[in-house]
Amino acid sequence: MPEQAREQIFGAELSAMRAAANSVASSARSNVATFKPRADQTDFDVIIVGAGLSGIGVAYHLQRDCPRKSFVILEARGALGGTWDLFRYPGIRSDSDMHTLGYRFRPWRGEKAIADGPSILDYLNDTAREYGIDRKIRYHHKVKRASWSSTEARWTLEVQGPGGKTLTCTCNFLQTCSGYYDYDTGYMPRWAGMECFKGEIVHPQKWPEDLDYAGKRVIVIGSGATAVTLVPAMADRAAHVTMLQRSPSYIVTRPAKDAIANWLYAKLPESLAHTLARWKSILLQMYFYNIARKKPEAAKKRIIELAQAALGPGIDVRHFTPRYDPWDQRLCLVPDGDLFRAIREGKASVVTDEIETFSETGLKLRSGDELPADIIVTATGLVMKLMGGMELLVDGGVVNPGTALSYKGMMLSDVPNFASTFGYTNASWTLKADLTAEYLCRILNKMDRGGYAYCTPRNNDPSLIPDATLPLSSGYMQRAKDLLPKQGSQRPWKLYQNCAKDMLALRFGSIDDGTLVFTRGPAQSAPRRRREHV
Ligand SMILES: Cc1cc2nc3c(=O)[nH]c(=O)nc-3n(C[C@H](O)[C@H](O)[C@H](O)COP(=O)(O)OP(=O)(O)OC[C@H]3O[C@@H](n4cnc5c(N)ncnc54)[C@H](O)[C@@H]3O)c2cc1C
Repeated sequence: MPEQAREQIFGAELSAMRAAANSVASSARSNVATFKPRADQTDFDVIIVGAGLSGIGVAYHLQRDCPRKSFVILEARGALGGTWDLFRYPGIRSDSDMHTLGYRFRPWRGEKAIADGPSILDYLNDTAREYGIDRKIRYHHKVKRASWSSTEARWTLEVQGPGGKTLTCTCNFLQTCSGYYDYDTGYMPRWAGMECFKGEIVHPQKWPEDLDYAGKRVIVIGSGATAVTLVPAMADRAAHVTMLQRSPSYIVTRPAKDAIANWLYAKLPESLAHTLARWKSILLQMYFYNIARKKPEAAKKRIIELAQAALGPGIDVRHFTPRYDPWDQRLCLVPDGDLFRAIREGKASVVTDEIETFSETGLKLRSGDELPADIIVTATGLVMKLMGGMELLVDGGVVNPGTALSYKGMMLSDVPNFASTFGYTNASWTLKADLTAEYLCRILNKMDRGGYAYCTPRNNDPSLIPDATLPLSSGYMQRAKDLLPKQGSQRPWKLYQNCAKDMLALRFGSIDDGTLVFTRGPAQSAPRRRREHV
């Protein structure tokens, strides 16, 4: 990264943090003080769909950077927090550090950088409460369809409200923060004989609150982030936990506590410590990711050596030797080597094989082996779902996101006044979510200054080659590749999955790139002010 750019980023980050410490809290809180939510209001400047980590972040940025905008968050469920409220399986935790999974505007104060799910949910609830965002969420409001009208410069949303009642809301700008997967159901392959199994079959997305696994034999099917979390978390109480994988994943260990970050917090003012801890994580992550992509063989060798060292000599490291290169799929992180320890101590084991059939007492494998079980956990992943499954129409025509181009990783070609938050797959989700929210505010402010009614990304370059959006080969990504918008071969359609590049483009880059087309629209459709509500 050029020196000047680095200075610019660090300088801006530091001054933004100082400003955040001094003024943001007061300005955001003063908004809170003047905000008078009206339950019957249905027309807004901005509607945010989803009250998870991203939706709360967008709300914060709107309050800070566009204090005159009226907005509401429509949330399908009865609670905020999204992922961190939904998943309740034992050991649920982050697999990226909280200094970057937490918001830039609100330091993570926990001692552990790899934090458990309930602490993350507390952090999100506290953030929403502190900035008065919790009062702007309408729960049990599931957006089913959004229709844009260019003549009115407005979105009309069809919403399934409390009790299944159909409601209508309108807005000038629609921002979806609805995550990337189906909340109703996880991915569950059908195996032969499943109905014969006499024990319990559980999917981590629907963990039964009262599941008692003490002294039971547990099989966890899968080798992704959820499986490697569940196995050590259940191993202490279960009789034995077997992780059954079709093929291995890369598993790397990392201390749950970030000693350097904790030292910075102990010695420096909080805002400065937060900035430095974040940048340490961002740069290290970028460094390790780039090195793994540039020198996959060396990275593979090192990861496997470390796994073998953590497992000890008695365990076959082939179970931890994937067929693909590091970062073809997301690496699995295990804090303080907890998975390796459980295996070393004999409380858990790994089997690499395929399921032939379920039996009454467990699983029969292709190799002929049998695995007995009382509980089988299918950690087989998610069903990908974009925009919370809502249908999108522009001037009467249905939008197919799978054929649209992704503009700066947040808007869709030919869809006006619409943005969607999608975080990084190789770093903390929030890094991109925060940048997306900042850019949204920049666009809104530009439209206000210029008297524009809407803006639309338009691809005018016939030589642009559409490509898959995400480089990952994970099962759920592959299953959903036709649903995902495409990226282009060059800016602003190219996705770099690189926080520094995105920061330059979204925080500092010019909005006038010739691709985002601003339209004044008819006089009567200019964005309406709703000062009485802010
Ligand atoms: C188990 C698990 C662990 C993870 N760990 C990490 C990690 O360590 N680091 C990381 O970077 N990422 C991680 N991720 C990815 C994670 O989803 C993001 O970090 C982040 O929580 C996403 O936040 P979000 O607000 O964008 O989406 P979500 O958390 O999915 O929230 C979306 C919200 O939108 C609502 N919604 C959806 N559709 C509609 C609709 N039609 N109408 C109204 N509301 C709707 C949902 O109810 C939900 O509340 C993890 C994901 C999972 C599943």
